[in-house]
Amino acid sequence: MTASYGFDTLQIHAGARPDPATGARQTPIYQTTAYVFRDADHAAALFNLQEVGFIYSRLTNPTVAVLQERIATLEGGVGAVCCASGHAAQIMALFPLMAPGRNIVASTRLYGGTVTQFSQTIKRFGWSARFVDVDDPAAIAAAIDDDTRAIFCEAIANPGGHIADLAEIARVADRAGLPLIVDNTSATPYLCRPIEHGATLVVHSTTKYLTGNGTVTGGAVVDSGRFDWSASGKFASLSAPEPAYHGLKFHETFGPLAFTFHGIAVGLRDLGMTMNPQGAHYTLMGIETLSLRMERHVANAVRVATWLENDPRIAHVTYAGLPSSPYHGLVPKVCPKGAGALFTFALKGGYAACVRLVDAVELFSHVANLGDTRSLIIHSASTTHRQLTPEQQVAAGAGPDVVRVSIGLEDADDLIADLDQALDKAMAAAA
Ligand SMILES: *Cc1c(COP(=O)(O)O)cnc(C)c1O
Repeated sequence: MTASYGFDTLQIHAGARPDPATGARQTPIYQTTAYVFRDADHAAALFNLQEVGFIYSRLTNPTVAVLQERIATLEGGVGAVCCASGHAAQIMALFPLMAPGRNIVASTRLYGGTVTQFSQTIKRFGWSARFVDVDDPAAIAAAIDDDTRAIFCEAIANPGGHIADLAEIARVADRAGLPLIVDNTSATPYLCRPIEHGATLVVHSTTKYLTGNGTVTGGAVVDSGRFDWSASGKFASLSAPEPAYHGLKFHETFGPLAFTFHGIAVGLRDLGMTMNPQGAHYTLMGIETLSLRMERHVANAVRVATWLENDPRIAHVTYAGLPSSPYHGLVPKVCPKGAGALFTFALKGGYAACVRLVDAVELFSHVANLGDTRSLIIHSASTTHRQLTPEQQVAAGAGPDVVRVSIGLEDADDLIADLDQALDKAMAAAA
């Protein structure tokens, strides 16, 4: 599929072709665990990575392969590996780079589950994370040491919708000879293409906007193909001989596809965080309408955020799509088609009013998810960011007086009316 096609064309066609066996126009769900080898030589070539093909669905599956190619194309990468969830994608992205004693420098403004994964769970592998305000390039540079192996941030950060100046952050990463990993879940490649700003790897929770309808969890790691894994000697998994493949060197053998091949041949083979073909099917269905949905998500978010900002019951709104946001100036540079549909607002009634608000909404769903067709609301401090200290909550943009909304595809007037009636109830009880 030629990459010169426009986004709307690629979101429908990239990676897919009529099924060679049946002519089926829609990508079939290849619900199979294993694939018959042509003969013993074919099997040996596949196991030696001398030929690309299908062996076993923990590693590769034709339905998942279409999704991988589609996401890689939309992001402008050379390859992608899909996996079972966004959190799996983050481990899959870090695994080839890290070893006991190594660290990453990560943004303070991240999805709550990512803060927990990075501040607690990865320690079990002997990895660690240093959290910095990525608005400050000097702070990022100061946190890097000889054991740092990556810089990690979100393009449009959960929960506040803050926009990262990706080109600035990539410059710091380049100077240190480190890969920049960007979680592009909240922006999607329709609004932001991190590789064009210098990102090395892009990770996704395909659970969110890419699938778009709240049906399946999934994740993806996209490789730009631009990083020189052999330059520094810091990335031995990719540059040094791999004992499990007779001393094959991934970077030397596969060049720009080294990270993707390693992700499948070592990452999925040994970590086993595989996406199943049924899940890939739902996400492929969702991606076909990604641009249409994101346009409406953004238009609705602008309407709702503008209304909230002008409401006397609201202390402030963080949406970067509002001219009042300090991040508004970055929109044309980083996400020219809009600032997404995820933001927070603070209630003058504080924590208690927030809890009452999420109980009083009727159209909004009170759930721990985002990027659904439905509008969603959550009080982060008592849920997704509950495991964080109060200081971490405020640094993450999830302070006690703040609720997060993911604006869906309903009529904006209905969403505003629902918030209006729920705010009345939340504030009446406070008075
Ligand atoms: C949801 C989410 C994740 C985690 O993805 P799962 O699919 O839930 O594992 C990571 N990053 C961001 C920005 C998310 O919204």
